[in-house]
Amino acid sequence: MRVLGIETSCDETGVALYDSERGLLAHTLFSQVAMHAEFGGVVPELASRDHVRKLVPLIRKVFDMAEVPFGEVDGVVYTAGPGLIGALMVGASVARSLAWTWDVPALGVHHMEGHLLAPMLEDRPPRFPFVALLVSGGHTMLVDVQGVGQYRILGESLDDAAGEAFDKTAKMMGLPYPGGPMLSKLADQGKPGVFEFPRPMVDRPGMDFSFSGLKTAVRLKVAEHAVDETVPEEVMADIACGFQEAVIDTMVIKCRRALKETGHRALVIAGGVSANRRLREKLAAMAEERHCKLFYPRLEFCTDNGAMIAYAGCQRLLAGQRSDLGIEVRARWPLDSLEAVHD
Ligand code: ATP
Ligand code: MG
Ligand code: FE
Repeated sequence: MRVLGIETSCDETGVALYDSERGLLAHTLFSQVAMHAEFGGVVPELASRDHVRKLVPLIRKVFDMAEVPFGEVDGVVYTAGPGLIGALMVGASVARSLAWTWDVPALGVHHMEGHLLAPMLEDRPPRFPFVALLVSGGHTMLVDVQGVGQYRILGESLDDAAGEAFDKTAKMMGLPYPGGPMLSKLADQGKPGVFEFPRPMVDRPGMDFSFSGLKTAVRLKVAEHAVDETVPEEVMADIACGFQEAVIDTMVIKCRRALKETGHRALVIAGGVSANRRLREKLAAMAEERHCKLFYPRLEFCTDNGAMIAYAGCQRLLAGQRSDLGIEVRARWPLDSLEAVHD
């Protein structure tokens, strides 16, 4: 089965063609990051309008890249939520219309299921069951994954998502947009241990997270070391490093708990923050210690992309699931409310 996948939940227009026999045929992406940079964050109305401009040309391009005649697919899948309503509506409307024109089924996909299944696109994919740590701009979740659509939430963030914590802290430190990757780059130049920030929630049982307090701790440190209102670059790098270590150590501790509680031998990380080099290093060390394996997507599939949506949607179309002719999208959509796919 060959499917076209469309992702427009936020500020990336992503499209891909996936074939259940041959794997990923082609994928392409346009990031609106430069457009939103001057506002220091995503402006929803601008995002929707840009998806309108970019989506159809990108769809044509992905068929060309794959050398597949335009429209030769068995289904069209699209992100139906969670995300920005206007942005989602663009992808859903275009996807639904194309499916109707081409007389093939359409299906709305859960964006976080896309992230969760992204490592399945790699050469050595994880096998069910596994523990998934989903760490993105809007979500932080530990999930017990038994199969496609079989998700039990073990823990989540009570306040800021992991990516959001990176982004907000970076902004506060005066780093350019988008902050997360910038902050992690700066952290790599710093020395661990110079500044120790608290590891939030680790002294409590359970697998929930809380990151918002770290922002304040960093703000206080920055203020403390300001000389004439500026903080030396070196000190900033050490603060960034201290922040990053605190976030990552918290995640490592919670992941260890999740592996212990479930007894699973595989840990999957996905979402934008899973691109973080230090997080991968530290989780790999913990996994090895427990004789478990760590899986993650290639860097470009950590953040939003069409390939993960095409893959997730294809699994569901193969199981016979379909969306009807109505165009429905959801800003919020609990991951553990999805229909299970049994093989
Ligand atoms: P969601 O998937 O929850 O709807 P989103 O789609 O905006 O949110 P993603 O595209 O998965 O999120 O990831 C973007 C997030 O990843 C941003 O918050 C960004 O700062 C963060 N991020 C990207 N690279 C890194 C990195 N190397 N270190 C830390 N954070 C990173
Ligand atoms: Mg984005
Ligand atoms: Fe995302």
